[in-house]
Amino acid sequence: MIGLLLGSATLLFTTVTIAPAQQPAFDGKTLWHHVQILAADSMAGRGTGTLGLERSEAYVIDQLRRLGLAPAGANGYFQPVPLLRREVIEQDANAVLVRGAEVKPLVLREDAFITNDVDLTPKLEAPLVFLGWGLQIPEQNYDDFAGLDLRGKIAVTMSGAPEGIDQALAAQSSRTRWKQAHDAGLVGWIEIAAPEASWPFLVDAVTTTTKYLADDELTGAKGRQLHVVFNSAHADKLFEGTGHTAEELFALGKAGRRLPRFPLQVSLRAATRMRKEPIKSANIVAKLEGSDPRLRHEYVVFSAHIDGLGIRNPVNGDSIYNGAIDNASGAAALLDIAAALQKAGTRPSRSVLFTFFTAEEGGQLGSRYFAAHPTVDRKSIAANINIDEIQATVPLKAMLVLGVDESDLGDVARRIVASHNVAIDVDVEPLSNRFINSSDQGSFALRGIPAIRLAVGFPGELAPVQRAWRRQRKHTPFDDLQQPINLETIAKYEEITRAFLLEVANDPRRPDWKPGSVYRRYVK
Ligand SMILES: [Zn+2]
Repeated sequence: MIGLLLGSATLLFTTVTIAPAQQPAFDGKTLWHHVQILAADSMAGRGTGTLGLERSEAYVIDQLRRLGLAPAGANGYFQPVPLLRREVIEQDANAVLVRGAEVKPLVLREDAFITNDVDLTPKLEAPLVFLGWGLQIPEQNYDDFAGLDLRGKIAVTMSGAPEGIDQALAAQSSRTRWKQAHDAGLVGWIEIAAPEASWPFLVDAVTTTTKYLADDELTGAKGRQLHVVFNSAHADKLFEGTGHTAEELFALGKAGRRLPRFPLQVSLRAATRMRKEPIKSANIVAKLEGSDPRLRHEYVVFSAHIDGLGIRNPVNGDSIYNGAIDNASGAAALLDIAAALQKAGTRPSRSVLFTFFTAEEGGQLGSRYFAAHPTVDRKSIAANINIDEIQATVPLKAMLVLGVDESDLGDVARRIVASHNVAIDVDVEPLSNRFINSSDQGSFALRGIPAIRLAVGFPGELAPVQRAWRRQRKHTPFDDLQQPINLETIAKYEEITRAFLLEVANDPRRPDWKPGSVYRRYVK
């Protein structure tokens, strides 16, 4: 209760001009109206590079124009994002393990598969070296690369981290480890799938991911000549002759123990061919000019991805993956909150960039491009506030704030959320590193820009509702307009998000990372 009172007092003290009473109330209906348009079957699931996404973008731009928001892309409202589709031609690919005179072919899709995420070298043969977890974490004096000659070799690693290593650091380090690997002279990577992962699911999910940023510098895979994922059930093919077995190594891994590192007795020889073609795509950026003569040159990027999965394999005869909650709801929230601010004549001190990212599905490509090539000076971006999935399937009891402990934005979020009588939900999957991996806010954090994602929380007895939604609707044709929606939850989510946006955009002090945050690494 004390926290709640303090929260309200702070809100009134620092943001007199935006007291909630002066802002029009939300009803959830105006937001859902936009969702009904963006997630209609006529938008065909808004797949990147399709007419459906172009139609959705035309709708958004029409709305932005009506609201009087200024174009702030590179070409009017658009910021073109160069993408390409890249696919391994599997019938022309082969991979064999070479041990002296002995050659053992791998059965692609059964033993292993080659991913589409790098420009493959057509012919490659290199010795393999087992690097355990393959982690290098200077903050904790941990280094799986140390003392081994890795030049010209292909690394073989397992996924996870030993006990005693900070989980956020481990998750973040495994994401960016190719750069360290490349610096150490490695030319390729074989990741052994986690034994608990479903192999057919993994094969399908990874091999159908084919869209990438055209600029190799931005993919994080520069210099990687081959990337293979290996079936854990067949991993002994790699360890033969070393005195180690996959079973032994998985058991050590499961116990959180450190893993041995050693050269393998085999080389991998691979021949591959790829199909490549450019994809037309763009982000949309619109500006609400700030009111403060000094702070208006700083920006809060308020974002949501507008793309969806498009048309895919039919489920129960339905092949349109409408993406109503993921993420027509987020794009709609940007439009609805912009309209509310305009209606109230509210102009925060800093400028706000209403930004609709392309190609989030399959790797946050639009936001990665924007964070690398922002349409305003990168140093002038004070913060990113991202919305992905307003899961309005339950009453709003809590908010899950991804990144809540990383920067000052988290403190503001705690205060605003408490002042709305809502709890902060805890992230129950810290090792998934959802702050970075779950949506576009990660692209900003990895450029050192304080970022946060506001999501509906599912505390306690509500957790199974979210699990069910993720299993039955997310990324399926059933995330559509027919699902039950709680309009009060949408309205309250919007109230909180608007208050948070205004607080961040008005606060004369720029948000910063916490002293111990791993994302300080990326501040330039
Ligand atoms: Zn999404």
